[in-house]
Amino acid sequence: MAQVEFRGLGKTFADGTPALQELDVTVADGELLVIVGPSGCGKSTILRLLAGFESASRGDILIDGRSVLAQPPQERDIAMVFQNYALYPHMSVRDNLAFPLRMAKRPRAVIDKQVHAVAEVLDLKELLRKKPSELSGGQSQRVAMGRALVREPKVFLLDEPLSNLDPRLRGQVRAEIAALQRRLNSTMIYVTHDQVEAMTLGHRVAVLNKGELQQIGAPQTLYDQPCNRFVAGFLGSPPMNLCEAQLYRHRGDVAVRLGDDSLAPPARLRQALQRYRGNTVLLGMRPEALTLGSGEGGNTISVTCLAEERLGHERLLHAAAPSTTVDCNGVPQSPGILSIRLPSGPAMPAGTTVSLRVDVERLYCFTPIGKAIGRLADEPPNGFETDS
Ligand code: ATP
Repeated sequence: MAQVEFRGLGKTFADGTPALQELDVTVADGELLVIVGPSGCGKSTILRLLAGFESASRGDILIDGRSVLAQPPQERDIAMVFQNYALYPHMSVRDNLAFPLRMAKRPRAVIDKQVHAVAEVLDLKELLRKKPSELSGGQSQRVAMGRALVREPKVFLLDEPLSNLDPRLRGQVRAEIAALQRRLNSTMIYVTHDQVEAMTLGHRVAVLNKGELQQIGAPQTLYDQPCNRFVAGFLGSPPMNLCEAQLYRHRGDVAVRLGDDSLAPPARLRQALQRYRGNTVLLGMRPEALTLGSGEGGNTISVTCLAEERLGHERLLHAAAPSTTVDCNGVPQSPGILSIRLPSGPAMPAGTTVSLRVDVERLYCFTPIGKAIGRLADEPPNGFETDS
């Protein structure tokens, strides 16, 4: 168990690729931090720098207050589990688990004790005699984790460890990892591009894009109070709808024009929006902030259905967006589609016009360059904040 500090950490590869901008994050002792972001955003680079497989271009990494940059990987006391975990095929599960300890020349009795303890924690006792070829994907993954755990490392790094598993198994192993982390109270950094994993697993989530930390905080805080368009559009499935909208003066106040319809912004945003009156902004609406409902009281929009995905307990309606929509990077989508999460109900054929009530309390606004307007609270950059 240990505290990990990244201080102004940066990495530019020899070919000039700027993989990581200055990263300043402290991972608390016993914390499970998830780093999430699209492919190539620098997630693995952070882990590789921490493990000592890459050298930093700038900044420092401290474990329990001491810089580790001068230490070779084997002295950093860090264990890493990769996406392509390779178990030794000719060795039994028991020997695979024991291997790191044998390499470290630990006494036989210690090895047996540690292997037994890890097998207990990861529910591998029945499998100790088996060879990797006789294991399921989830079991192999547990052995790979066991092999990392058996050394009782100070810090545990997981790099997309579930990518090779089918979705059902992913959910199961994800829950096991969360339970394991709680039980061992180990410091873990978990890298994924899957925002569902990030939302469900982390005490805190760090969202990374193009080598730059966008926001860090408790998962629900990031979902409810994204600091920019990228975080808003990256977390959530389907993602937040981001539509161009105009702010205009209305009875001495400010209102939002979305296509042919008008919306009254929530009280929490009004003051901040005054400054942008007369401008085009990005309006953010989560799919669950739209419900079927008609006219009275305003705050409704009219859209044309394009397609419906029926999921049993709910359905996702895809409708023609009333204005230009963009993705989390600000790239306009063609055609612009509005996603709406609805309870299951009678089919809505393509071409049907429906009226949607907008829960304006859950509206978000972003400047044209994607910064959140009137965000409730700025996240502390560090600190071990959780939802509970
Ligand atoms: P993925 O989810 O696809 O694994 P990632 O977020 O983990 O991606 P990194 O592997 O950290 O991304 O890579 C960050 C950037 O650095 C990418 O643009 C990648 O192409 C580049 N990169 C990684 N390793 C090297 C290297 N050895 N030399 C040059 N560029 C590299």
